[in-house]
Amino acid sequence: MTDKVDILVVGSGPAGSTAARFAAQSGASVKIIERRSTVGVPVRCGEFMPSDEEILNMFPKLKDMSEIFDMPEELHCLETYGIDLIDPSEKVVRLDFKGYTTDRDRFDQHLAKLACEAGAEIEMNDMFLDCKDNIASTSKGDIEYKVLIGADGPGSRVAQSIGLQRNQNPYPAVTAQVKGDFEPCTKMFFGGIAPGAYGWIIPKDGRANIGVGFAPKFAKDSTSAYFKKFIESHDLKVEGEVYGKYVPSEGPIPKTVSGNAMVVGDAAGQVISVNGGGIPLSLIAGRICGQTAGRAVNEGASLQEYEAQWRDIMEAPLKLAAFNKKLADMFAFRSDTTTKMCMSILGKRRMGNLIRCKRIFP
Ligand SMILES: Cc1cc2nc3c(=O)[nH]c(=O)nc-3n(C[C@H](O)[C@H](O)[C@H](O)COP(=O)(O)OP(=O)(O)OC[C@H]3O[C@@H](n4cnc5c(N)ncnc54)[C@H](O)[C@@H]3O)c2cc1C
Repeated sequence: MTDKVDILVVGSGPAGSTAARFAAQSGASVKIIERRSTVGVPVRCGEFMPSDEEILNMFPKLKDMSEIFDMPEELHCLETYGIDLIDPSEKVVRLDFKGYTTDRDRFDQHLAKLACEAGAEIEMNDMFLDCKDNIASTSKGDIEYKVLIGADGPGSRVAQSIGLQRNQNPYPAVTAQVKGDFEPCTKMFFGGIAPGAYGWIIPKDGRANIGVGFAPKFAKDSTSAYFKKFIESHDLKVEGEVYGKYVPSEGPIPKTVSGNAMVVGDAAGQVISVNGGGIPLSLIAGRICGQTAGRAVNEGASLQEYEAQWRDIMEAPLKLAAFNKKLADMFAFRSDTTTKMCMSILGKRRMGNLIRCKRIFP
C-alpha cells in the first residue's frame, strides 16, 4: 500500500523539523521521515549558536526572528561572550561575539516536538531511497506526496534524486565531549593542527564540545590522526564516542528547487563557509521552505518563492563567506607561516568581518 501525504520532509534535523512545523501550520498533512532511531542522536555538531544580535548582523533582512530563535532556557547550556582566534604560535585575537552553547540532541528534539505539535507526524528508522512521479521509495515503503522537502544533510540523496547539484568538496569534521571548567569563550585554533579549517573548544556547563575539521586538499593525515593530535596537544580527555560528519564548504548550491521538490539546510549548502556554522541558516531557510510548501499545496503557489526569499536574506552574505574562504585557501592555509602572516595582516577588525560574513577589504 502507498502512504499519501501533502508534504513529505526527509530528515529531522533543524531544517527538516522547522520546515515541517511551518508547513503543518498551513493545515497541510505533513510527514517527516528520519533514518536514525532517535532525533538528534548521535550529536555531530559543535553546538554553538550565535546571539540574535549576531544573527541579525549577518542577515539584516531577516524578519520575525523570535518565532524561530527563541529557545527554552534549558536549551542554553552556557552563555558565551567571545571567540578567541588562535594562530599556530598560540597568539590570540579575542572577538566580542555573544552566543550560547546547547545540547544538539535536546535542541533537535525540541524542534521536532514543535513540528509534531503543529500537526506533523514523524516516522523514525525510515530512510529515503529515491523518488519518481511524486512517489518516494523509502526503506519502509512508498509514500506519495504533493511536495517533497529534502532536509537530509550534506550528502543529500533527495538533491541527487531530483537532479540538483549536491555539495561539492565537503570537509570532514569530528567532534566529542570533554569534562572540565572552561572560560565562556569559544576557542578556534588555526594552522597545521587543522589544515584549511580549524580545531575548536566550545565551552558548555562543566564540559566542552571539542573537535577538528580540515580541508582534504591540504591534509597530510587521516581524520583520526588530526583529532588525536588535537586532543593530545590540549591535554583533553574525551568522554564517550567521537563522531564525524561532512560540512558543506563552498556555499549554497546553484538551485534549491526542482519541479515540486526543494532542498533546505545543509542539503542546500546553506552553511557559512568560513566557520561551518549552519544551525541558524537551517532555521531561517526551514521556515521559508515550510511556508512555501504550505502555500503550494493550499493555493498552488510556486516553489520558486522559496528560492527567491531565502536567497534575498542569505545569498549575498553566504557568497561573500565562500569568496573569503577561497582567499583564505589561496593565501592563508598554505602553511603555518602563511596562516600566521595572514592573521596578523588581517588583525582583529577584519577577522571579525570574516567571521560575520562581511567584506574584509573595501
Ligand atoms: C562537526 C560539526 C560541527 C558543527 N558545529 C556547528 C556549530 O557549532 N554551530 C552551527 O551553527 N553549525 C554547526 N555545524 C553545522 C550544523 O550542524 C548543520 O549546518 C546543521 O545540522 C544543518 O541542519 P540540517 O537539518 O540541514 O541537517 P542535519 O542536522 O544533518 O539533519 C539531516 C537529517 O537527515 C537525516 N537523513 C539523512 N539522510 C537521510 C535519508 N536518506 N533518509 C532519511 N533521513 C535522512 C539525518 O539522519 C539527519 O537527522 C557543525 C557541523 C559539523 C559536522
